[in-house]
Amino acid sequence: MAREKAIGIDLGTTNSAMAWVDESGRSQMVPNAEGSLLTPSIVLFGDREVIVGKEARSATTVSPERVAEWVKRDMGAPVFSHAIRGEYLPPEVIQACILRKLRADLAHSLGPDANVVITVPAYFDEPRRKATADAGEMAGLTVLDIVNEPTAAALAFGESLGYLAPGGEPKEEMTVLVYDLGGGTFDVTLLKLAQGKIQTLATDGDVRLGGHDWDMRLVDYAAESFLRQHGIDPRTDPAGLNRVYQVVIEAKHTLSARNRATIRIDHDGKSAEIPITQDQFRELTADLLERTAYTTRQLLAASGLQWKHVSRLLLVGGATRMPMVAEMLSTMTGVVPDRTVNPDEAVARGAALYAGYLLVKRTEDGPPADFEVTNVNAHSLGVEGIDPHTMRRTNVILIPRNTPLPATHTERFATKSKGQRSIVVQILEGESSIPGDCTAIGRTAVRDLPDGLPQGWPVEVTFEYGSNGRLSVRAVVPGTHHEAALSLERAGGMSGEGIARWKQPVGASAGFEAFGAAAEDLPAVPRPSPTPASPEMPRTDADTGFWSSPVQSAAAAAATSGPTPPSAPDRTSPPASGRTGQPASPRRLPRWAILLIGYVASAIVGLGLGYLVLSRLRPEFFPLPW
Ligand code: ADP
Ligand code: MG
Repeated sequence: MAREKAIGIDLGTTNSAMAWVDESGRSQMVPNAEGSLLTPSIVLFGDREVIVGKEARSATTVSPERVAEWVKRDMGAPVFSHAIRGEYLPPEVIQACILRKLRADLAHSLGPDANVVITVPAYFDEPRRKATADAGEMAGLTVLDIVNEPTAAALAFGESLGYLAPGGEPKEEMTVLVYDLGGGTFDVTLLKLAQGKIQTLATDGDVRLGGHDWDMRLVDYAAESFLRQHGIDPRTDPAGLNRVYQVVIEAKHTLSARNRATIRIDHDGKSAEIPITQDQFRELTADLLERTAYTTRQLLAASGLQWKHVSRLLLVGGATRMPMVAEMLSTMTGVVPDRTVNPDEAVARGAALYAGYLLVKRTEDGPPADFEVTNVNAHSLGVEGIDPHTMRRTNVILIPRNTPLPATHTERFATKSKGQRSIVVQILEGESSIPGDCTAIGRTAVRDLPDGLPQGWPVEVTFEYGSNGRLSVRAVVPGTHHEAALSLERAGGMSGEGIARWKQPVGASAGFEAFGAAAEDLPAVPRPSPTPASPEMPRTDADTGFWSSPVQSAAAAAATSGPTPPSAPDRTSPPASGRTGQPASPRRLPRWAILLIGYVASAIVGLGLGYLVLSRLRPEFFPLPW
């Protein structure tokens, strides 16, 4: 049987790239049908066909309403933030169009039946990862897994240094900082690289920061200069804005190689030549660079390491070609950035190596994999509880961010009220203690608890987070035989039915019409808000968490050693059909309101009594007015 082909796809915000593992086990880049290693992640929805890549980019100036770009920034949201020909499409559908083109190009060079690994920034949360996997499925790809871009970059680096060669010379262990500044996202990760081993130590990033932000500073600089010269602002019409945007990118690239560049703008019959130096550009964007420096410092602090422990600095992503990046990092870390791997290729190559690793792992009787990969979770995972002191809803974190995977943790909670009949476990992803600021990624409920459970009855919640990104949640109510389990594998987002539905227009070699029809078929597709679309899932507050935080539960647990249920456990009661964890007790007034009402009532009663007593003893104080 021919060896299955392992493919890596770097599905970038700006550019996508493909690589595969050749017969000798080395990663190789795969050019697209146009012969380039990078395919611009831009989609043009034409009348007769959907075009992806360079050709689509040239249409951004002429008909911007037909073009979708920067879609990766909106992954996880219900729809892409810009209407395409009046229709709002889910971002994963547009990404699927890019993947379909890549799939066709892969089939052309390597033949069909590719097993792919698609990359995502380490900072992507579950809904964004799920949306990426769904896009692959819609494009008809066999998605083996989603892998973090810095892990992939480190794999490519490891390959080039001989760290992945089976039976190779033992190499010294090194701590690598991967700084990835692409067009739309920034990602920074610390990894440990040893012979045949890659371990992520900590990861951080910003999903809304990239080379694009540097471009927009240049757009404003050039447009304002044009406005001063001619009294016209080229940003006011979309085509004019796009033209300025295209020329400033050229200037930005020039400034990576030379000290000065000229931005030439032709607009509305007028033209201007705007000079700019590297120093001016650095000044215009200093705060953006500082944002990346800040995140990098935060990461180091989170890992508990110091710069002297970091032995290598890997630069990934096209925007790291700006000289200011290497300068800033060298000054901050004292390490000179490494140029061993091409910043445009590292991620795709590493993803291919990871696909090869997964294929080897899948065949049980095959040879052992050449290396092992340990990841960490980029976001904390917790449960919504109620703080017994403040009575506020709070995010109780069970698996903090940057925990090596697999990880398991059990936390004891307690029922909030006497006689509580059901408990809802709302699973949250995020760092904030406020549940509303986190992403709700799933929920499960323990229902039909026996009658008469006292308040503070213990509830044990266990999180098991596997290396494959699957989270299993179990809630057990000791002494009642009641428990609930939930396995979340990239929960949320589009349903299987939704994916199947979109496969059709994505797969057809047709134009926009099929997409428009599918979008209109969808019941009540949410429209994006004027602010950037949030990947957060809609929250229904009425039936979330009805228990106390572990603070109270610890006391409750100490008081109840070996709990015995007050009534016989009821295992045979029918499951509550269609109920999604109803609140077990009616909402009470907050404590401060009860106290206030108490004070006011006692003041009134006291005043009344005083009046009565005094009017009896000294009636002369109270002359009757009638
Ligand atoms: P992504 O990961 O978002 O797809 P890439 O890694 O392909 O992005 O990087 C794209 C970004 O890199 C763009 O903002 C592009 O303008 C920028 N870039 C590419 N080459 C250069 C260069 N020589 N100088 C400055 N920026 C560059
Ligand atoms: Mg990238």
